[in-house]
Amino acid sequence: MTVTLATGTAMFSMFYFIMLETDKFGKLRTAFDSRPWRNRENMYLCTALPSEVQPFKSSCPFSTKTAKGTCPICSTCTSRDGYHHGDPKALHNTVGIAMIEYGMARKASEREDNLLMGRLQLDTLINYRGNYLFGTISPSCKGCYYKTWCWNVAYRMAWQSAIVSLNSMLCTFIFGTDITIFYADLKNILLCVSAFFSVSTLCMQLKIIATACVFILEHPFMDNASLPGWLDVNNTILMAIVNYFADPAAKFGVAPTKEYWDWLKETSPRARAAKAK
Ligand SMILES: [Zn+2]
Repeated sequence: MTVTLATGTAMFSMFYFIMLETDKFGKLRTAFDSRPWRNRENMYLCTALPSEVQPFKSSCPFSTKTAKGTCPICSTCTSRDGYHHGDPKALHNTVGIAMIEYGMARKASEREDNLLMGRLQLDTLINYRGNYLFGTISPSCKGCYYKTWCWNVAYRMAWQSAIVSLNSMLCTFIFGTDITIFYADLKNILLCVSAFFSVSTLCMQLKIIATACVFILEHPFMDNASLPGWLDVNNTILMAIVNYFADPAAKFGVAPTKEYWDWLKETSPRARAAKAK
């Protein structure tokens, strides 16, 4: 049964990853590429340095609140609820860490018209990092967060998990039944590992698709034509499943900062002293 489960998931994963590369179904992924939520020009791309601080006139695209801060990546003005405040530094200084916008960073370093702006943008982009083991991302606006989470960090997590599942399943054929580790048969251990990773791959893939669909449906600036054809908004059962798997913060007006990492956050000396009192 476990072999069937792992093989089925491997087949589904292959189909899933190939479909997302096609023009028809890949729109779900490419809809995020142009960052349609942007409400200001990218401040790093202007040729002259801003002479004075410009007041924020735009409203937040992710909530009804007043825009107060700027996304370091796409320069969108957002409110607190439209901003991902980043995950703890402890996770971004450990294994599984990678730079996310490598292409943008390379372009910034090649820039010759305004070296100072290029350097500033390069520094910002080098600090914009994701962790492929924990699925965490540095601070950015909600749009950039979901673009990165769905199609970079979580996408690769699903890849890794699919590979581990398939490899451990294949290893059960290589190792015979006569190898015993910790009083258990190695073949059975590998099958359990395979079952665990195949189920988690499936859950990850469903979560990514559901989150992207809910984000596109909830935000007016996203193109609804990029949604897959099978997604029928009037089908209550299908929408209940999609909403169940989707990240709750993908909805309009919900802050995307994850609170379950709070126990890892470093507190300032003042806050620590106040706590000790
Ligand atoms: Zn952004």
